Amino acid sequence: MSRGTTQQSSAPYNRRIVLDVIRRQGSVSRKEIVDAVSLSPQTVANITHDLESIGLIVSRRLKGESRGQPPIAFELNPNGGSSIGISLWPGGASAALINLVGDVVKRREVEFDARKQRQVLASMLEVVTDLGARATATARPWGVGVALPGPMAGTDISFVGPTTLEGWTDLSILDELRDQTGLHVYYSVDSVAGALGEALFGVAKGLDNFFYLHFGAGLGGTLFVNRSPYKGANSNANEIGHIPVVPDGKPCYCGNRGCLERYVSLHSLSEALDLPVIDLPDHGKETLEGMLAANDSRLLAWCRQAAEHLRDAVCTIENMLDPRTIVIGGSAPKALVARLVELARPLHKSVRGGIAQPSERILLSERQEDSPILGAAVLPIHEMLSPRFEVLLQDRRPDLQVATFLGRKPNTRAGRL
Ligand SMILES: [Zn+2]
Repeated sequence: MSRGTTQQSSAPYNRRIVLDVIRRQGSVSRKEIVDAVSLSPQTVANITHDLESIGLIVSRRLKGESRGQPPIAFELNPNGGSSIGISLWPGGASAALINLVGDVVKRREVEFDARKQRQVLASMLEVVTDLGARATATARPWGVGVALPGPMAGTDISFVGPTTLEGWTDLSILDELRDQTGLHVYYSVDSVAGALGEALFGVAKGLDNFFYLHFGAGLGGTLFVNRSPYKGANSNANEIGHIPVVPDGKPCYCGNRGCLERYVSLHSLSEALDLPVIDLPDHGKETLEGMLAANDSRLLAWCRQAAEHLRDAVCTIENMLDPRTIVIGGSAPKALVARLVELARPLHKSVRGGIAQPSERILLSERQEDSPILGAAVLPIHEMLSPRFEVLLQDRRPDLQVATFLGRKPNTRAGRL
């Protein structure tokens, strides 16, 4: 648990750690906050009063059996803030407006050819305008989070192949999105966004360390360590999909052969089944679920080989990183992922065996279909609520009232998390 500090410049940090305790625990008394953050009762009282007056939290009296004043519980105010998440895919985007506690207020799906960047920008502008209009007057969206398949620009394998935004050379349209909407824009690799979504609102809530596997058109991963995504030297860590697993295996668009995502990804499945564009949740989902229910032989054959590779991947991840659990999310239909995991059991022996129950070693996202957009929408909220020092140490400028209050960094470009 984060500890408070009494330094003069620490007010935003202390507000954030108090907010973080409330967010993580859902409903919490003032005394529980004091115990958790090591600030004086008076300081905590001042902070909760301020947070309530700015609309970020609400309080309610608990019915207690004790005499005297009933205790007060603090909770995040769902309508205290909102943000827009956009998850970009090779064939379109899923987007949503979410509130402060991760409820989807409104959802949108759009289709486009992601190779045409101007079309992508026009679609994003239309979606942001539409979703932004649904935000309440007091809660103008805190920003727009964009999740996109990695790795990002600058590497030999960026923007190549059908599981990425093929042909892109940079992310300047995100700056245009910011300029034309007037909203802060954040972006990240989809697997990082998905991991954040799970950590804030999903099955990984409360876990400090876990590994997130993003099963979408391609296969990505993110190591979450000490409540933050591990980025690597150039923020391209955990491109697990391009780890070679089959010597002289299927050629991969990255230039190598036998990469994991050539065997475990929706793109791999679409090749095996000759089905087009099943990477969009609303398209192939019913078809796939129907085929699974009917035990379609081609689909099961693909699942069996994918499960073999998934079993190996889980063993590699566990032995290398010893994560508390592996969460599988992404746009793949949950029924499909569940079948793969079922077929991958029993799991290989690893450093997690004997410590974690088999059922604890892999968790499926409960927000499978929403996890990519939820993860994207989380970026601005994470930026605002996270008690991270590196955010607070940067210069601040007058901004939204809430932003100033929480010590948000200036944002002159689309910010990568
Ligand atoms: Zn590859």
